[in-house]
Amino acid sequence: MIELPEAATIARQLDEVLRGRRVVSGEAGVNPHKWVFYKPSRRVLGQRLPDKVIGGATAIGRGIHVKLRPKHVLLIDDFGGRVLYHRPEEKLPKKYHLLMRAEDESALTVAIQGWGFIGVLTERELRDWVKKRGTGAAVSPVGTAFTLGRFNDLFDHYEAKEKDSVKTFFTNGKSVAGIGNGYLQDILFRAKIDPRRKVSQIAKKERTALYRAVRDTIKSAISLHGRECERDLYGAPGGYMPVMDRHAAGKPCPECGTAIVKISYLGGSCYLCPACQK
Ligand SMILES: [Zn+2]
Repeated sequence: MIELPEAATIARQLDEVLRGRRVVSGEAGVNPHKWVFYKPSRRVLGQRLPDKVIGGATAIGRGIHVKLRPKHVLLIDDFGGRVLYHRPEEKLPKKYHLLMRAEDESALTVAIQGWGFIGVLTERELRDWVKKRGTGAAVSPVGTAFTLGRFNDLFDHYEAKEKDSVKTFFTNGKSVAGIGNGYLQDILFRAKIDPRRKVSQIAKKERTALYRAVRDTIKSAISLHGRECERDLYGAPGGYMPVMDRHAAGKPCPECGTAIVKISYLGGSCYLCPACQK
């Protein structure tokens, strides 16, 4: 799944290559599967694409927002897959779930893998979407507002701190934006914390370690254009090599040598060092 470092990379590249271009045609894709969520419907979404001018692109959390002037925003959010730019006359992928063609015949495709949300929304529809998900107040880990004080506040004011684990605290996107299970495993390893710990059990000192691990991991991943298992706008892999992923299972922990274990937790796999992470 795409997380902030990949979304930021793709948004930056989109902004460089497509800003100011006019969209002449578009469609909500071929071969959609049931885990591609469109808003509005595929048909209406396709009708909203022509005659828009592409404005700026930004990453917000795990989503990519592209202004379609005069009054819409293309939103690709909570998704796995590829967002690709195609030069004029370049062959398009066989399967895609969104296609936009610019007047010079260059194109953008979005192909969802796993699941994902594609919207072409008015500003009001976008506000409603953010409100419904409860992610509007989340702090970006690379913004100036992300200070240790603010991070402690997020813990103190977290509503379900007795019930929710530290994994949920991050991955629901309501407190800190843009982190999913991918980067979280490295963050928790660096902070030496087990993903199953309750939010209320994380001591002040551990919060400080978590804060540093979040900041350093995400900053470094952005500078490396995301993880090597994901692709940028031109199909190139990122340069960030995760420490804790499926390749790590059974291998010695780089800190202490204990074998890395895989656990199933909250509908996904987590890789962790049972000795380092408490
Ligand atoms: Zn270890």
